[in-house]
Amino acid sequence: MPNDAFGHSQPTSRTTGAPEADVATRSEQDASLPRQPWMAAASAGFATRAIRTGQDPCSATGSTVTPVYQTATFTQDAVGVTKGFDYSRSGNPTRTALEAQLADLEGARFACAFGSGMAAVNGACSILEAGDHLVATRDCYGGTYRLFSDVLPRYGITTTYVDTCDLDATRAAIRLNTKLVWLETPTNPLLRIVDIAAIAALKRPGLVIAVDNTFATPYWQRPLELGADLVMHSTTKYLGGHSDVVGGIVITDDAALHERIAFHQNAVGAVPGPWDAYLTLRGAKTLAIRMREHERNAHAVAQYLQSRADVAAVFYPGLASHPQHELAKRQMRGFGGIVSFRPHGGAERALAIARSTRIFNLATSLGGVESLICSPTVMTHGSVPAARKAELGITPDLLRLSVGIEDEADIVGDLARALDASLSSERLYAIA
Ligand code: PLP
Repeated sequence: MPNDAFGHSQPTSRTTGAPEADVATRSEQDASLPRQPWMAAASAGFATRAIRTGQDPCSATGSTVTPVYQTATFTQDAVGVTKGFDYSRSGNPTRTALEAQLADLEGARFACAFGSGMAAVNGACSILEAGDHLVATRDCYGGTYRLFSDVLPRYGITTTYVDTCDLDATRAAIRLNTKLVWLETPTNPLLRIVDIAAIAALKRPGLVIAVDNTFATPYWQRPLELGADLVMHSTTKYLGGHSDVVGGIVITDDAALHERIAFHQNAVGAVPGPWDAYLTLRGAKTLAIRMREHERNAHAVAQYLQSRADVAAVFYPGLASHPQHELAKRQMRGFGGIVSFRPHGGAERALAIARSTRIFNLATSLGGVESLICSPTVMTHGSVPAARKAELGITPDLLRLSVGIEDEADIVGDLARALDASLSSERLYAIA
């Protein structure tokens, strides 16, 4: 009896309840045109892949939507005879569908889903051993910094942080025992751009280049095509897209790397449950249309902020004024939905703005359909030492916006109101 993508046996006439004649006809068709799990044709577009890859109808019931296989275990036909799954830590069909979908979106064959973005970062680092060295983007996400600085050293793995926008500095930081270069681009929260292809060109045997692609998503940036070996996402953000689930994924097209990470995924067991896998799978189906809207609104917000005299700086790679705009245009198909800015008036005014927006919720995280505002110094980068934050420019007057997909006029209007309300009349006078 043939098996589908999940190793399920195909239904018999008894399970489908179809008339015998029908079944005969279908069997004949099956014989001439065997139904393979849907694999992306090279020509399939991004949105098609997001909706189809890994998501064949359930062969047992015809369920069009991938079911939530809410089960810890799978009954075996005989000892060791399974339908492809035996225990949900090791594998679950809903998770398998998610892994197939997201691997395909990054143009790869393999993916391991994790219970959070940080579990995914840790999963990627499972390719390292005691004595190995890591080079990392110095302004990476605060939680990544904490893992690299406070956890990995306990296992004999050390990290050098470097401005990975500086190719010479990155080259100089790579030592004989460097096994992993960890890049984040655009960086969080200052939206600096790292030239992935240039850093990948520094590769030598045994050196793995990984990219945290959370901010850009595969819709705008595909690091494996630029020469990276591993891509990691906090799927909590744009891939899930609705701020209702925490998760992470590590994607690669290298079978040997995948085998090591998949071993860690099962051995350590930081996996998403079936519901979380389902929510992420469902969210990612609409990634293409959401990302286009996020970007359209983010452009409008960046341009609006730039037009105001009471805003000291705007950070958005889509602005011609961004110092790496040309690199961003070359490396990315679009610039994403995150905008950071410094209002004039210092930390006090920044905090007043963050308190008074209504469409923008004051919350950590990003990438959901709803707009969020945060103070990176305290919220997303709280785990980074104060001196290092100051050195990186992550100062208390900085605000980060995750621009959602509400109506543009409401989003811009909300910021306008909050900026105006935070200006005292003396300050208005001073700026004018
Ligand atoms: N990487 C980036 C760029 C992030 O912004 C985050 C979280 O904000 C993470 C990794 C960690 O992901 P999670 O919160 O899902 O563990």
